Amino acid sequence: MASPPDSPIEDVVYELEPTRMPKVIPVALEDLCRETKFSKQEIRVMYRGFKTECPEGVVHEDCFKDIYAKFFPHGNSSLYAHYVFKAFDVNCNGAISFRDLLVTLSTLLRGSVYERLRWTFKLYDLNGDGRISRSELAEVVLAIHELMGRRSHQMEDDRKAREQIDRVFRKLDLNQDGIITVEEFLEACLRDDHMTRSLQMFDYEL
Ligand code: CA
Ligand code: CA
Repeated sequence: MASPPDSPIEDVVYELEPTRMPKVIPVALEDLCRETKFSKQEIRVMYRGFKTECPEGVVHEDCFKDIYAKFFPHGNSSLYAHYVFKAFDVNCNGAISFRDLLVTLSTLLRGSVYERLRWTFKLYDLNGDGRISRSELAEVVLAIHELMGRRSHQMEDDRKAREQIDRVFRKLDLNQDGIITVEEFLEACLRDDHMTRSLQMFDYEL
């Protein structure tokens, strides 16, 4: 696979086109500015860092897992890193390109509460069907517990954990029909500051 050229020549960066036979295509910085909340100069700096860390031009899941393992050395971060990777992988081709990275970082760092919540929803919606089931919520919560190095193996059998997940689920499932829609998720989180913090800061206190 050809690597993207080293540094942005003035006003473009190089992207690997998401096809089965990836090819390098130039992307105008102007387009990236429009798609994100970063300035040209910020994008140039980030691209330089990206090229140093990922000379291939994309981040693969293994690399992502290595980064998480460094940040959370006391837990098993592999499952949670997998879920986050999926949420970063905007076009679902198994690799995070510079553009994917930029779009998500822009949402997480500069997005409105609303945009950040939409991203969080996507993280929890593991099968991408636009709704969060109880089992999806439970899987992500348990992955977070593994990440933090809390007791994990019997967690799903643990009555206390089940009750806590049920409680969170009930709060988010406003009409109590057994699924959380994106509208319910946004409304419940915007209504309850503590909920928003719990979902984003891994603070489930199980
Ligand atoms: Ca789902
Ligand atoms: Ca519902």
